Amino acid sequence: MPLSAASAARTILTRLHDVMASRSHAQAKLNNVVEVIGEGLDSEVCSIYLLREGMLELFATRGLAQEAVHVTRMAVGEGLVGTIAQNTEMLNLAEATAHPDFSYRPETGEEKFHSFAGVPIVRRERAVGVLCVQHADPRRYEEVEIEALQTVAMVLSELISNAGLVDEEEALLSPAMTGPQRLGGLALVKGLAIGSAVFHQPRITIEHVMAEDRDAELQRVYLAFDKMREQIDRMASQAEFGVGGEHEEVLETYKMFAYDEGWSRRIIEAIDSGLTAEAAIERVQQRTRMRMRQIDDPLLADRMHDLEDLSNRLLRIVSGQMGTAATMGLKQDAILIARNLGPAELLEYDKRRLKGVVLEEGSLTAHVVIVARAMGIPVLGRVRSLRGAIRDGDLLLLDADAGNVTVRPQPAVVDAFEARFAKSRERQAAYAKLRDVEPFTRCGTRITVMMNAGLRDDMPGLSLTGADGVGLFRTEFQFLVSATLPARERQTRLYRDVLDSAGDKPVVFRTVDIGGDKVLPYLRHNDGEHEENPAMGWRALRVALEREGLLKVQARSLLEAAAGRTLNVMFPMVTEPWEFDAARAVFESQRAYLKGQKKLLPEAIRYGAMLEVPALAEQLDVLAPKLSFLSIGTNDLTQFLFAADRANPKLAERYDWLSPAILRFLKRVMQSVAGHNVDVTVCGEMGGRRLEALALMGIGIRRLSITPASVGPIKELVRKVDLEEIGAAMNGWLAAPPRDLRAALTTWAQERGIDCD
Ligand code: PEP
Ligand code: MG
Repeated sequence: MPLSAASAARTILTRLHDVMASRSHAQAKLNNVVEVIGEGLDSEVCSIYLLREGMLELFATRGLAQEAVHVTRMAVGEGLVGTIAQNTEMLNLAEATAHPDFSYRPETGEEKFHSFAGVPIVRRERAVGVLCVQHADPRRYEEVEIEALQTVAMVLSELISNAGLVDEEEALLSPAMTGPQRLGGLALVKGLAIGSAVFHQPRITIEHVMAEDRDAELQRVYLAFDKMREQIDRMASQAEFGVGGEHEEVLETYKMFAYDEGWSRRIIEAIDSGLTAEAAIERVQQRTRMRMRQIDDPLLADRMHDLEDLSNRLLRIVSGQMGTAATMGLKQDAILIARNLGPAELLEYDKRRLKGVVLEEGSLTAHVVIVARAMGIPVLGRVRSLRGAIRDGDLLLLDADAGNVTVRPQPAVVDAFEARFAKSRERQAAYAKLRDVEPFTRCGTRITVMMNAGLRDDMPGLSLTGADGVGLFRTEFQFLVSATLPARERQTRLYRDVLDSAGDKPVVFRTVDIGGDKVLPYLRHNDGEHEENPAMGWRALRVALEREGLLKVQARSLLEAAAGRTLNVMFPMVTEPWEFDAARAVFESQRAYLKGQKKLLPEAIRYGAMLEVPALAEQLDVLAPKLSFLSIGTNDLTQFLFAADRANPKLAERYDWLSPAILRFLKRVMQSVAGHNVDVTVCGEMGGRRLEALALMGIGIRRLSITPASVGPIKELVRKVDLEEIGAAMNGWLAAPPRDLRAALTTWAQERGIDCD
């Protein structure tokens, strides 16, 4: 077996070079190519399938029956070969027949062969063919062999294109590229947009894959690295990213990768194997993408996306094709299409022209999504085969509320969408007008409407929405977007900035709720043990009380940040009253320490607990006298009451917040704290929905903390409500629940002209 991917590929490439330089015609070249690769990889079979008239046709083979050449044809998506082309993803199987997509072709005589490995031959990011090897022994091909195969596939793509063996236009214009189509995805930042598709990366065509002069290619890549590092350093020193501390962290990640020895070494190895600088960068990028797909950890995957961002930068520098769509003058009303996008790349776009973003990848915690949210741009992510379905300039209707994008819509669909869009803009404008209007009910009670936040970038929302304050500041967000545990100074800076931007309005900081679905790769809790039920496991206060250092640092940071003002702090997932006492004690000892140091202290500290675990409700009489406030986290509370994982999409619509169980429970909570001087707020998603908020007011809730986009709609609702009326109705329904409480409440609201969509 070859020692390394580089040497395996180099041997093959040297021989391929001769084949390609020969004067034989294309078919003869392909016949030679399969021999060279088969021998080089010590594989009994090597075959090349190319896309012709929409089908993948066997063009050349060593080892399969020659009669099958130009006879065996597979549709894209059919059989192993078709699957590789469709997903542009390699397959490596010890036993080919065991794969669900295996499709047997008797004319090839392939039944003798067990193992199978295949890689797509990619041209302009789309598969134009498949290169595969097969072996009689049932063994998986080693990674070095797969890598060699992928390197060879790059070279083949050049040969195929030069020889005009595939109709590229046809390959790029599959039937999926013409008619209207609706593609589903994951709503990462909600909102609507109409615009034309703009590809973030005008395609960088790699002209030459095989290097003539290895040293010259090395020089080019060294220079490109220098230039890229300069760019990143300059960005860091000029803080081009604006003021957000999170962006600083993005830059730190960039810097880490830009100077990463491993990355440059792999590129140099690829050049050593015979590739040009461009092809080597692309090759390493392909490999990274492949690995990324196998990583299940969203945070780690985000870091890999940052690396991809840099890799694109490097490719542009080395090829001299510098511009992204951002630098080439963005069209009016553009909707950006990308596999993925780095946050820095997004920031380069003209915000007035950019209306939306659609990504093939992306996740809720990705840096780019955080930045897009701050820019107010809707983002739809996880749209599969996106770039295979959209052409540059196609009209798109982006509905990130419903989680889809319509490509090349029919005129009637555009009209309907425009009407909806106009309505939603009207509504937004109406809500914006409510910014300075205080939310009094019809009967004259002031309802407190606060917003939830978690990042510096969220804070401008306070004045934009006119919210009464931040009722839940999720401090763990800073931990989630950071590559390392945020140091005390960084925490203090964030908390101080948040308090500064809130001015006179209160901010309730929640101590870290790490664990559950918020996993930090750099902080192994629970001693790295796998948890069957992380939501009910080692999370939130349970972690913080054991990792006292973590809570101490946070307590110090919050106390110092709130010097001279009131600090509102609350603890997540309090299950028994002693946990609240213990957490409070950590804060109090830090306060004593700072006092000893003659540091300026907060004027007052108000301690609160989150009610998320049903057990706590049974001991509220014990806890309430110690509390300044209680915040009901209905997201977690309902998952525990219903025993229904909040992250499980199958259960997402099974149980209703408007159920007598939840509302009776909450009503009892209100009764338990009634005699105490405790502010009660609901800070889960439930409070941001109009019908649910109406029900909450009906059981006595007077304080809500909700997602910023809901502040306007909820204020508007409040002004239409008569508390006595809804209180009486709720009392009746909870005493004798109707079959469908949601329906009953909807009718009730409609009868009173309250729009609860
Ligand atoms: C909740 O559980 O309702 C809550 C507000 O906290 P989080 O969504 O951060 O768990
Ligand atoms: Mg919670």
